[in-house]
Amino acid sequence: MNCIFAELPVSVFEVMSRLAREHAAVNLGQGFPDDAGPEDVRRKAAEAVIDGWNQYPPMMGLPELRHAVAEHYRHWQGLALDPEQEVMITSGATEAISGALLALIEPGDEVVLFQPMYDAYVPLVRRAGGVPKYVRLQPPHWRFTEEMLSEAFTPLTKVVLFNNPLNPSGTVYAQEDLELLARFCERSGAIAVCDEVWEHVIFDGRHHVPLIGMPGMRERCVKIGSAGKIFSLTGWKVGFVCAAPSIMRVLAKAHQFITFTTPPNLQAAVAYGLTKADDYFADMRRDLQRSRDRFVNGLRALQFPVLDAQGTYFVNVDLAPLGLNEDDESFCKRLVVEHKVAAIPVSAFYADDPVRSVVRFCFAKRDSTLDAALDRLSGALRRAA
Ligand code: GLN
Repeated sequence: MNCIFAELPVSVFEVMSRLAREHAAVNLGQGFPDDAGPEDVRRKAAEAVIDGWNQYPPMMGLPELRHAVAEHYRHWQGLALDPEQEVMITSGATEAISGALLALIEPGDEVVLFQPMYDAYVPLVRRAGGVPKYVRLQPPHWRFTEEMLSEAFTPLTKVVLFNNPLNPSGTVYAQEDLELLARFCERSGAIAVCDEVWEHVIFDGRHHVPLIGMPGMRERCVKIGSAGKIFSLTGWKVGFVCAAPSIMRVLAKAHQFITFTTPPNLQAAVAYGLTKADDYFADMRRDLQRSRDRFVNGLRALQFPVLDAQGTYFVNVDLAPLGLNEDDESFCKRLVVEHKVAAIPVSAFYADDPVRSVVRFCFAKRDSTLDAALDRLSGALRRAA
């Protein structure tokens, strides 16, 4: 058996969701909203199953969806993408990332990764033959510097896998950070695979700046998005890949033998959803921001040291200043067993030298769910002190 997968533990999201079920806990671990998602978009999908085409759609995706993706990114991010040659639909962003790594890496190529990172990245990079080189980010700002990039980039760097906004930290990278990263990509000739699935889930009036829109990056970026996060329908697994034709040609070869295609009814519904008026997106952000604020205020009132949450469904607390005698993992275990709240220890997002004091909570929940969690969290710090 292949040792990269054989030696992997079960994902931390699966472990914490199982513990949450076993202990009847409020589950703020795995990131998914607890409402049903926009009804009109779900209805479109249902109608498309009954009345629409249910045989193989085109390998690159339904033309109407590829056009909707190009138009959506023109409108929201000022990008000029050719829907015929520069947009492809995949079964979720994870397929897009996996396909991009398989398509771009030759055995021995180096891949720059930013820790903390989504747990799928490292096994996918290694299985594709890539050699991970890590940039280690830390609270409270989780930013990278020129010095950190100089250490990670070498003449062997082929790909940079960059997640912005960043899960788990909720960081939205500023223009100057993107400019710095773009300079390193250009200098080294690396291609940036940009996981931008959280691009719409940003708060406090922020704008998402895609790396592919930075000077010099148009021909060396793979931009990846996801309907799951845009429409709060995380189970749908409809991803979008955008890249210049010379890169896309190769990405498409990987996709055609991984999933080949994605359910046509979901594609049709997402095409409809992407053309929604700006209000939908503004309301989604406003509602999530309100949930964030409600939860953050509750955590602060309980003396949790809360880190800045600029985007994503997540807010983090850094336990370090509290001087507790336990790390994030034991804290999360105790939280779920004794206080019946599931969260995610952020050390699980590091491949080496983890930060062990940060815990991630998902706030994309109803008020009643957040309030129940806060109620249960009220004794958690006192007991440990
Ligand atoms: N993206 C989700 C999170 O960060 C997890 C998805 C999964 O369980 N694979 O919580």
